[in-house]
Amino acid sequence: MKTSAVLDGNHWIINGEKKFITNGNIAKYGVIAAVTDKTKGYKGITQFVIDFEETEGFSVGKVEDKLGIRGSGTSELVFQDARIPKDAILGDPGNGFRQMLTTLDSGRIGIASQALGIAKCCLEESVKYSKERVQFGKPISEFQAIQFKMADMATRIDAAELLILRAAYLESNHKHFEKEAAMAKMYASDVAMWATVEGVQILGGYGYVTEYPMERLMRDAKITQIYEGTNEIMRVVVARNLLGKR
Ligand SMILES: Cc1cc2nc3c(=O)[nH]c(=O)nc-3n(C[C@H](O)[C@H](O)[C@H](O)COP(=O)(O)OP(=O)(O)OC[C@H]3O[C@@H](n4cnc5c(N)ncnc54)[C@H](O)[C@@H]3O)c2cc1C
Repeated sequence: MKTSAVLDGNHWIINGEKKFITNGNIAKYGVIAAVTDKTKGYKGITQFVIDFEETEGFSVGKVEDKLGIRGSGTSELVFQDARIPKDAILGDPGNGFRQMLTTLDSGRIGIASQALGIAKCCLEESVKYSKERVQFGKPISEFQAIQFKMADMATRIDAAELLILRAAYLESNHKHFEKEAAMAKMYASDVAMWATVEGVQILGGYGYVTEYPMERLMRDAKITQIYEGTNEIMRVVVARNLLGKR
């Protein structure tokens, strides 16, 4: 973490840049983390609540041009001697790292749910199209090759949903849910990616063009394997829990 916050009288002076921030180009408020004490490592990180519109020295940087989720803005946030009030701290100083990790665990259930929604839409579109498209004298839904793809989709989608519900249940009941959230996120996003590639295949040429929603679902699915921690990192989290290295 390179962004720093230094206390100056009744203000914190913030310097640094944040990359790839969802809704960064339209948000009025945001929570950012900064190093407040370099000597303390991860215990020297603090989170701040920022009023973007009222903060001098703050600006929105590059707005990214993305493969998918193009309806959602993703931008840089730039802080150049930005002054924020002394009391704009979220919680206690030095607690930022712990807060971020907790937020990520919850966020992963959200991203898993996003992936599940994409996969469900993919299955609905696949079933619908396969009943309409006639080839060799019958709807393609009559071909076992197509049926098997949809049967596998339905099975994996249900498995993903159950993993998500388990993680959400544990969180709601204040139990440890780091491993379960990571499992749900990585499995649901892998299902969404796999299902949408198969969905494009089921629609044939129409899977590849923008007239039908399938190509968009495939592009949107990809981000769920990347953000809120990549799926490689999800596996690291699961393994760490298995090995008792929490
Ligand atoms: C559209 C979009 C929106 C985003 N929104 C936000 C946001 O709102 N807030 C925010 O803070 N971030 C946001 N991000 C950032 C996102 O969370 C990161 O891009 C993501 O966590 C991956 O980090 P990275 O890009 O640095 O990849 P890297 O860490 O550089 O990873 C590159 C590759 O190396 C692999 N890798 C890295 N370390 C390891 C390891 N230890 N073991 C095995 N493999 C490893 C990764 O899995 C990946 O395959 C967003 C990103 C995008 C693209």
